[in-house]
Order: sequence, then C-alpha cells, then structure tokens
Amino acid sequence: MVPSLPLKTAALAAVAALVQGCAQTPAQQPSDATVAAHVAAATRSAGSDLGALLMLCKPAPATRPQQAELDSGLNALINKPAPPPGKAFDNLYFVGADWVSAWAIKTSDGIILIDALNNQVEASALIEGGMRKLGLDPTQIKYVLVTHGHGDHYGGAPYLAQKYRARVVMSDTDWTMTETKLEFATPIWGAPPKRDISVKDGDRLTLGDTTLTLYVTPGHTMGTISPVFDVGSGGQKHRAMLWGGTSFNFGKDVPRLDSYIDSTRRMGTVVSAQKIDVMLSNHSNVDGSQAKLAALRQQPAAQANPFVMGTPAVERALSVMGECAQAQRDRFAMQ
Ligand SMILES: [Zn+2]
Repeated sequence: MVPSLPLKTAALAAVAALVQGCAQTPAQQPSDATVAAHVAAATRSAGSDLGALLMLCKPAPATRPQQAELDSGLNALINKPAPPPGKAFDNLYFVGADWVSAWAIKTSDGIILIDALNNQVEASALIEGGMRKLGLDPTQIKYVLVTHGHGDHYGGAPYLAQKYRARVVMSDTDWTMTETKLEFATPIWGAPPKRDISVKDGDRLTLGDTTLTLYVTPGHTMGTISPVFDVGSGGQKHRAMLWGGTSFNFGKDVPRLDSYIDSTRRMGTVVSAQKIDVMLSNHSNVDGSQAKLAALRQQPAAQANPFVMGTPAVERALSVMGECAQAQRDRFAMQ
C-alpha cells in the first residue's frame, strides 16, 4: 500500500529524531552547576557588544511585586525625562519614553505604530508630539500593534484608537488576558483597549507597501507578539525583528520559562532563515536604541547604521536570552 509508506517513513524519522534528541540533550538535574553553565554560555554569546542583555541572567524574584512596590517603581521609571524622538531607518521612527519605547513604521498608506506607552499623557506628549517633531502626521496612524498585554504597551492605545480611528492589534491570548485577569494592574496605566483585531502566530499585518509578519513568542506573556518587517537605510534593505517581551517578571513559573526558551530557539531559526540583521525591543535598555539614535544624530549619513547588527549578532542575542531563561528555570526548579 503506497499511501502508508510515507507515513511509516515519517513515523520512523520521528522516532529517530526523538532518540537523537535524547542523546544530544540528556536531562540534567537543575543545580548550581547547571545555572552557572547557562550563565557562562549567555556571557560567551553576549560577547563585547550584547552585555546589556545579561541583566536577564540576574536572579528573578519568585513572586510578582506588591501593588505599592509596582506603583512606586513605575512612577520612578515614568518620571525620567524622555529622550528626543528619532529616525532609526528610512521607514522607522522612535517615539518612546526613557523606559518604554514606541515605534512608528511609515508605509505608503499610513503609519503602523508598535506599542502605545503607559497612558494618554505619554501617547499625547511622546507619540503625537514626537511624530510631529519628526515630520510625521499622527492622523495617519492606521494600526496600533500592541506587543503584549501589559499597560506600558497598551496604556495609550484607547486614546489613539478613539482619536484617529486606529485599529488595535493584539494576540488572541493577550486580548483574553486583558479581558479577564490582568497580570499587572495599576492606575498609572490607561485602561486596556477594547478587543479589536485579534491575531495568531504567523498572521500578517499589511498596510500599503509594508507587511509585518507577527510571530507569537510566548514567555514574557503567553501571547507576546514579535513582529518581523523590512527596514531601509542608505539605499540598503534590512530585515528587523522586534522582540516583544523580555523580562522574567512573572514570578516562579517553570512552564512559562520553558515557553520562553522555546520561543528564543524558534525565533533563532527564523532569524537565520530570513537573515534578520536588526533586533529591536520595546524597551531601550534591551536594544540600546537611545545610544544608537544619539549616534545617528551625530554621524554623517554615509556611515553604517548602528541599528544594523548583522544576522550572527541577532542569533547571539536570542541565545543570550534563551540561556538566561534556562538559568532562571533551573533556579526556580531548585526552589
Ligand atoms: Zn511586559
């Protein structure tokens, strides 16, 4: 029976892969030694250029912050003066705060905004104000892509949605999270937006000449979106990934760290296959965007764009985050 042959072959291959997988990665009991090995691997991958990511390798708290602690921590971050807005690529603009970023992608048919900052005050001052300073028209915002369901990314979204009839895009998982039980809630943030466009892994968001591929990368939240899209600089096209959620601020949750680790591996293969050479973040302490924008403001146009890291560096960045997540998983597993 011919039809059964490919099935048999596939089954055999699956068993072979399983056996091979087991042989390659023997299950190791979490210990101080495995934690140290993962931190050492992360440190090697970080090299001299990605040291900022090693903050992820510091031990994460086993519990989420209490309300008063969350509020005072957020206020301290929000009260830092905002950096100037800036142009990172021909079609990509930073309109963020000091702590949390928002990015405007200019297309032939309007603007896709990635994230909306903490609240209406920031959306007005930094997103609308920043866009005007950069010669962009906020009335052209057609989509607000919210990378994940925490208020520092969605807080300004209802205001922009209402004012400009912008459509709000989030993963189905995180829409459900914001509708049912917020992981973090504080009056400092605007209310979550009303459910609008719901996307799943691999969906595309197209506006004019620009398409974003939306990868769901569970970990930081279970519906975090990491968009991948083209950017241009000095006549050269580059491919960018924005890592949609970075820190381990969810407390002791080993399965969630396992998801995070899987997401870094999976996106590592996407980065290699698509030759992604730019990694961005929604927090500038992760991607160094403030320093890079400052460098761009100083340097003559002919010089290399500091946001272009090269594909091997983006692969290393994912490896650093994955190794730090494994170190943290092992720490929690021992507790
Ligand atoms: Zn978050």
